[in-house]
Amino acid sequence: MDHFSYKNGQMYAEDVALQDIASAVGTPVYVYSTATLVRHYTVFSEAFSGLDTLICFAVKANSNQAVLATLAQQGAGADVVSAGELERALRAGIPAEKIVFSGVGKKPYEMRAAITAGIKQFNVESEVELEALNAVAQEMDVIAPVSVRVNPDVDAKTHHKISTGKSENKFGIPWARTDEIYERIAALSHVSATGVDVHIGSQLTDLTPFRTAFEKVVGLVKNLRANGHDIRHIDLGGGLGIPYDPEAESPPSPIAYGAMIKEVLADLECSIIMEPGRLIAGNAGVLVSELLYDKKGENRRFYILDAAMNDLIRPAMYDAFHTIVPVKEPDNAAKITADFVGPVCESGDTFAKNRETSPLVPGDLVAFKSAGAYAAVMSFTYNSRELVPEVLVNGDKYAVVRKRQTLNDLIGLDSVPDWLKS
Ligand SMILES: *Cc1c(COP(=O)(O)O)cnc(C)c1O
Repeated sequence: MDHFSYKNGQMYAEDVALQDIASAVGTPVYVYSTATLVRHYTVFSEAFSGLDTLICFAVKANSNQAVLATLAQQGAGADVVSAGELERALRAGIPAEKIVFSGVGKKPYEMRAAITAGIKQFNVESEVELEALNAVAQEMDVIAPVSVRVNPDVDAKTHHKISTGKSENKFGIPWARTDEIYERIAALSHVSATGVDVHIGSQLTDLTPFRTAFEKVVGLVKNLRANGHDIRHIDLGGGLGIPYDPEAESPPSPIAYGAMIKEVLADLECSIIMEPGRLIAGNAGVLVSELLYDKKGENRRFYILDAAMNDLIRPAMYDAFHTIVPVKEPDNAAKITADFVGPVCESGDTFAKNRETSPLVPGDLVAFKSAGAYAAVMSFTYNSRELVPEVLVNGDKYAVVRKRQTLNDLIGLDSVPDWLKS
């Protein structure tokens, strides 16, 4: 459930009309809803009631400081994948002891930053990373807590670009080598194994792959304990899907997901770490854009928007579906079909093909639903388009939580060498 709905003929985010935000801030603009973020976090955490659970929001889904601070207030931890995300989580008020550090390519300076901050654990993804971490910890004279990310070789049955738990993926330690790496940790002086970690992919709409992977991990934990390793927590990653197209998808509820996990973990005395990203933030945001032109092609109709693939890459990158709704509530006019496209010079700059929609006229605003995760964080400046602003709504208040980039911000990053200056 989200807090974006029509009232008095206008789409609102909670008690603020999107039209008012667009008039004040301009378009394109991302708008997030506090009530939706909080609701998703609450529903998710309640699904694990009775278990000793730490919910580490996957910062890569949405790293805006205001979004992170909202979740920090709810008690969330963070799953970070870079020194940049670590810094964002800390600055937003997420305590270091609630932060886990994932990712296949951590650099030594990033490891140092995380050790200095005092994070809960490193999710180690390879033997070579383990050796590097041990060396950094030795140099700093500390013992780094690690969980090994294991690759259970389970097909998440999701888009291939967001599938991470098959043996051909770059993520995690191959299943056959798990015993060996825990033996290696025991032998190393400056790392200690406290957990096991798994994350098989994103936007999963079926519990079966999760269950298969989690059952394998529980077996592994029992085995590791029998071999003398003190495994105290198990990190089950993120990945639970959301309904981007409510007519076509009905992913399992957090309640069903939590119940399945309780069943699989049953008698295993272990605290758990969860790393949801999309589930918390995805449906808590929209991207508002203006229709620039209604272009009639040979046999197609193009609605050319002022948002483009650089603002929202998901359709181009993952063939993702986003519901697109008019900000002004449509009347009963007959639906038409159109391609929604952006102004960027790429055929891939297409948000939706042959989409059924109420007719729109230039100047009308549309909202892309489900644009709170993997959206603003993935934006870039191709075609020298400035990064768009982000707004956070809370009841009848709103605030710009990232201002629109200016051309000076953008072009000022370049410099011209002396030999080109006259
Ligand atoms: C991306 C990622 C997540 C979050 O995935 P969602 O599908 O957004 O829940 C969690 N853990 C790891 C290691 C990830 O890479």
